[in-house]
Amino acid sequence: MTYDVVVVGGGAAGLTAGLSAARSGARVLILERGPRPGRKILVTGNGRCNLTNALADGIEHYRGAEPRFCFGALRRFPVADTLAFFAKLGVPSVDEGDGHYYPRSFSAADVADSLELAYREAGGEMVANARVAGLTPGPPWVVEGAGGRRWSARTVVLATGGRSAPKTGSDGDGFSLAGKLGHRVTPVAPAIVPLKIAGNLGHFLQGVKVTAVLRAPRSGLIAGPAELMFAHYGVSGPLALGLSVEIGLALADGPLDLELDLVPEMGREELSAFLQSRSEAHPRRELGNLLLGVLPRKVLPAVLRQQGIDPGKPVAVLTRETRERLVGLLNAYPLVCTGTLGWDEAAATLGGVDISEVEPKTLESRIHPGLFFAGEVLDVCGECGGFNLQWAWSSGYVAGLNAAGAD
Ligand SMILES: Cc1cc2nc3c(=O)[nH]c(=O)nc-3n(C[C@H](O)[C@H](O)[C@H](O)COP(=O)(O)OP(=O)(O)OC[C@H]3O[C@@H](n4cnc5c(N)ncnc54)[C@H](O)[C@@H]3O)c2cc1C
Repeated sequence: MTYDVVVVGGGAAGLTAGLSAARSGARVLILERGPRPGRKILVTGNGRCNLTNALADGIEHYRGAEPRFCFGALRRFPVADTLAFFAKLGVPSVDEGDGHYYPRSFSAADVADSLELAYREAGGEMVANARVAGLTPGPPWVVEGAGGRRWSARTVVLATGGRSAPKTGSDGDGFSLAGKLGHRVTPVAPAIVPLKIAGNLGHFLQGVKVTAVLRAPRSGLIAGPAELMFAHYGVSGPLALGLSVEIGLALADGPLDLELDLVPEMGREELSAFLQSRSEAHPRRELGNLLLGVLPRKVLPAVLRQQGIDPGKPVAVLTRETRERLVGLLNAYPLVCTGTLGWDEAAATLGGVDISEVEPKTLESRIHPGLFFAGEVLDVCGECGGFNLQWAWSSGYVAGLNAAGAD
């Protein structure tokens, strides 16, 4: 029996592709290598699923060889349509007030389950534990499972994800399947990933969050103010994750010097005057308590100790020279980034199937008619905050419709 569409991979993009194809009347089969579809959706947004972002229609929030590539799919299935689509599936969304949308139930499982249910209700078929090992161009296409099973299809959607979080099923299979068909794959790197920092500041401040600005002077990178979280290995949180793509690329030239501005709302002179007035107001306080109410209380003592300054000294002994040194540290605390936590902890993939070989409006291969791509397998990497799922929904929707011949 020949299916109209076989979707390889039952993640966010594959489920959406399967659903849009099935709803347009096509006979669809999703082949998922894991025991159930949507395993990565379950871990998104710490189990709450930040399913899109108010800014996610803007191509400036996507990285890759050519961010304009995203325009066609994002315009065809924009944020407003995504919110309406999920509301119709029974999953209304809420904006947390900063443009980050979550399901009203704050349950990522509800998102995955609703997609799967709707797909099955539309007549879609699914085989789990079916790892695809080869694709032979059609028509009809022959899809070969790792165990020797074969399926035949008029068109194929490759939605295997990238290499991030391989425990959820995406370990780069899609790149080799596309490569074997003659598609170029650009170099891949972990993205949206925590950063390793030399020294033990992270150890002392483990779990502490600050609102800061992060700079990498060598590369001219700057991000924030946003939240940064210290961890035993280094730093995480939106600020570090947001810069991790660029930092990851810069790390190819060796460890990278970073500067952390812990009081970004004040420039050097303002901060110096502020410390001076605080010291005059509280001369008997310990130096480590000088910024109580401004920074989390563990931060200043740790910063001082790292620089060999005793935080237990009374503020009164703060010389002009020490104050200026302190200003320098608070405005530009030096950190050395030695690496990222790698694929296991990455939320996205930078690089992927070369988009110059894919038609942006339909997501069909320019090499093999009848082959479509969707999601993270393509060289498209969104920013942290709902952008990667938006790309998965939009590209999945477009690839599914076109694979079914319905757009
Ligand atoms: C911890 C974490 C948190 C995240 N949080 C967010 C968030 O809140 N908001 C956001 O926008 N993005 C988030 N992301 C990113 C987002 O989840 C992904 O970009 C998105 O899920 C990619 O969808 P996809 O369908 O392309 O790939 P995937 O979701 O990876 O799905 C690919 C599927 O293909 C299957 N597969 C792979 N190879 C084969 C094969 N050979 N045969 C058959 N099946 C195969 C896999 O098992 C998998 O089910 C997060 C990612 C992680 C890891």
